Amino acid sequence: MKKIAIFPGSFDPFTKGHEDIVLRGLTLFDEIIIGIGHNSKKNIRYFDIDVMVGLIEETFKDYDNIKVVVYNELTAELARKHGANYLLRGLRNTTDFEYENSIAQVNKYLYEHLESVFLITSPELAAISSSIIREVHKYGGDVSDFIPYPLPK
Ligand code: ADP
Repeated sequence: MKKIAIFPGSFDPFTKGHEDIVLRGLTLFDEIIIGIGHNSKKNIRYFDIDVMVGLIEETFKDYDNIKVVVYNELTAELARKHGANYLLRGLRNTTDFEYENSIAQVNKYLYEHLESVFLITSPELAAISSSIIREVHKYGGDVSDFIPYPLPK
């Protein structure tokens, strides 16, 4: 059976840390679906979601086993719909662990055939976070070293 994983997140923006998790995930899974969780009524994003979809697709244009979707439902439901039995997540520190631990339990409860799989961050990328990139970008700083694509002007 094909091993399909969902890599869910806000990806506001998608970073080199995220890219690393996806590429390392490909050593474990046949296909990875990057799911950008978005509630258009409640979420105010910094980077436009459609632009981000395009930039992530561009980043992985050479891989036909990496897809990008936007979703506005339970991650467990998204996984079920796509026949994905794995949720891929990255862990940087104990704060990530505390959070991931509880959502993994809930996701398993919502869909019993869903196994969460965690990859530990690559040390050189551990400090990269979407929130820091947003902050630097907001004040005009150069974030190009932290993202795997050029930002549109
Ligand atoms: P969320 O809003 O669901 O936390 P994010 O877009 O911030 O989504 O992150 C998605 C996933 O990527 C999470 O599992 C997060 O821990 C992981 N992640 C974020 N940055 C890094 C990084 N630098 N290295 C490894 N994993 C990371």
